[in-house]
Amino acid sequence: DATGGAERTRITVVGTGYLGATHAICMAILGYDVLGVDVDPGKVDRLAHGDVPFFEPGLPEKLAEAQATGRIRFTTDFDEAADFGEVHFICVGTPQKPDSYAADLRYVQSAVRELASRIHGDALIVGKSTVPVGTAADLAELADEVSPEDARIEVAWNPEFLREGFAVDDTLHPDRLVFGVASERAEATLRDVFSPIVDEGVPVLVTDIPTAELVKVAANSFLATKISYINAMAEVCEATGADVDSLSAALGLDDRIGSRFLKPGLGFGGGCLPKDIRAFRARAEELGVGDAVAFLAEVDAINIRRRTRTVDLIRELVGGDLSGKRVAALGAAFKPNSDDVRDAPALDVARLLYLEGAHVTVYDPEANANAHRAYPDLDYAESLDGAVVDADVVALLTEWSEFREASPEALEQAGAHPRMVDARDVLDQEAYVAAGWEFRALGRPAPQ
Ligand code: NAD
Repeated sequence: DATGGAERTRITVVGTGYLGATHAICMAILGYDVLGVDVDPGKVDRLAHGDVPFFEPGLPEKLAEAQATGRIRFTTDFDEAADFGEVHFICVGTPQKPDSYAADLRYVQSAVRELASRIHGDALIVGKSTVPVGTAADLAELADEVSPEDARIEVAWNPEFLREGFAVDDTLHPDRLVFGVASERAEATLRDVFSPIVDEGVPVLVTDIPTAELVKVAANSFLATKISYINAMAEVCEATGADVDSLSAALGLDDRIGSRFLKPGLGFGGGCLPKDIRAFRARAEELGVGDAVAFLAEVDAINIRRRTRTVDLIRELVGGDLSGKRVAALGAAFKPNSDDVRDAPALDVARLLYLEGAHVTVYDPEANANAHRAYPDLDYAESLDGAVVDADVVALLTEWSEFREASPEALEQAGAHPRMVDARDVLDQEAYVAAGWEFRALGRPAPQ
């Protein structure tokens, strides 16, 4: 119990997707009374029945643990939420707008409007969603406009850095907490709410709200840049016969550079990095400092070129024409240990292959259902064996351990002339070549 028997702070979490469900469940585990709020009744119903509506290792167990304490509930009812919460965390989506690079802020606006228009008395609204700098100030104004006379609402920002696949651990044991606040009172409330985590020695940075909003996009831009940097080196390696794997290893041993996020391959995707760097560019342009982050356009372009390069390698390996060729696409999720297919490089490659007339069979250990919803025209296999049977070429597109650990011999269903394109640069090239495979990896010279 976080509050040592005193009355527990009542927390609402608005938006119960990857971020919000995890945050709500972890807050209940830490001892708070939590109400999760979402506009999607299906999601709310599943969570209320102890069923996490997406794949996140460890989260179903934590939901069961939280529900056993009786401290967590889920609802679609904003009246209930406004009445219940003292601290309201906003965790709704901020996707890319359909027609521009900017972030679509209608969900955060609607969440704040729905909530603030029903609040009486004191409340702290804490944004966790990733937003363009300046959004919190606009939301504070909106809250002020729509709230009843007797409401005293303050807005703060607490950006979230969790990684899908490690969401529970990252929430309970983050590298740092960032509190963007406009008053000592808001700081005190956040310090109190996060005290079980802060007491473990996690660094806390208290700053103004615009800086807190920026920390998140600046961090994601740095990570995206590091990935595209090594992928740019992979392009150069491909043109020279050099080996980007060795290059990366040598660079990473310099501890000013570091080896993490320096892995060449098919690049980044998902619901965060791509849309965050684009929204950052859009916001910087609005602010008249577009030049400062113009390099992010190049980071994005390098990342997208890895996908077309993968298609080129696959086409080359089957003799120059993809039409009618059977391709086994291993992986659909944007990264392993996730079922998230938002802006997934693997599915983008599958789509490009399909557009060139290939018969693409996708297999992902967890993301087949989401992938099928996004791309119903592709074929889907229930197993690795089912995907590779009679394939003209196998493409490893998401580095699930099931694929990394499969031996070339075990993939013998791939036929008499097995071919592999390793777009994640994780397979043992020599073992595949020794087992009779034609083998190509992004950024590495063709085996002799
Ligand atoms: P998500 O799509 O999984 O979840 C968003 C949820 O918000 C959905 O369940 C949706 O139904 C709900 N929602 C939409 N409008 C609503 C409203 N008006 N009221 C209540 N609920 C509403 O998205 P996500 O991945 O959880 O991301 C949410 C935010 O967190 C984004 O800004 C994202 O950039 C940020 N973020 C995500 C991660 C991550 O790893 N997924 C990490 C850090 C930050």
